[in-house]
Amino acid sequence: MSHSARWRHWRTRIRIVAILDAIGRLQEFRVRGPRLVGPCPIHGGDNPQAFSVHQERNLWFCFTRCRRGGNVVDLAWLLSAQSWPRTARWLEQLAMASPDLTPLETSQTGHDPGERSRLFRPYTRHLLLDPAHPFFRKLGLTPETVSRFEAGAWHGKGLLQRTVAVRLHDLEGNPLGYAGRRLDPAEVRDRGKWTWPPHFPKGDGLWNWHRIDPDGPAGLVLVEGPWSVMKLWQADVPNTVALGGVYVTQAQRRLMARARQLTLFLDGDEVGQAATTRLVAQGLHSRLRVIQCPSGTDPADLSETALARLLEPI
Ligand SMILES: [Zn+2]
Repeated sequence: MSHSARWRHWRTRIRIVAILDAIGRLQEFRVRGPRLVGPCPIHGGDNPQAFSVHQERNLWFCFTRCRRGGNVVDLAWLLSAQSWPRTARWLEQLAMASPDLTPLETSQTGHDPGERSRLFRPYTRHLLLDPAHPFFRKLGLTPETVSRFEAGAWHGKGLLQRTVAVRLHDLEGNPLGYAGRRLDPAEVRDRGKWTWPPHFPKGDGLWNWHRIDPDGPAGLVLVEGPWSVMKLWQADVPNTVALGGVYVTQAQRRLMARARQLTLFLDGDEVGQAATTRLVAQGLHSRLRVIQCPSGTDPADLSETALARLLEPI
């Protein structure tokens, strides 16, 4: 990638909230309409109104000492003691660590769902997917499980080319289209792990919601991705939903509030661990149970026995 392409990649791929999260400051921020407001991480003051982040535009401004603003690259540069090599290394890591974020043009930030929904067009056609692809075998997912969750490799052309796809539904189970997990490492590096339908309102629902019973006695398990949902289903934990990332919108929070207990079970990488800390601090649910996935693994990497042991009722 050229320099300008790399910059554009960072600006559209990395959210300012991911930077605040990475430096452990996100808990200090409060939602104010389309903005997040908190103390300035650059000059280090404690005025809780000093620093404002516009989530949709992915821009920031410090109204007190710095009296300046900019985009995500400017912020990383100022937080890296104005060293370009350090800034570039950090942003590259963040871009790699958050590959499942939708690009900002179609991002879900938990406000004004109306506008997004108007742009999104459901795709209701059923695609013939291959549930026996080696990608699933490596995760220990059987073709029966993969078919049950309407997933599989797509061998055709178009948006889902060179992906393994999963079907998306609204809360009532009406089909909305497909999301694709890219398989080509070069494409993953340049464009992220996942491809979503244009303007898909990801933050309005939770993947697998229409197949579970949110009011059931076992409560709800929350994971990052669909493969973990499938693996837990094989381990006899059926009430699992996926965020499609680590960010929780108000709409998703309201859905989860219906469950009598919520078990948070995010990936064991740095992003998942940081998100777990943040969601616990934010009081994600009134009866929240946290399960730490072993470092460097996803729930989908674990055996059914290991999963059953981790999720055992206390
Ligand atoms: Zn400042």
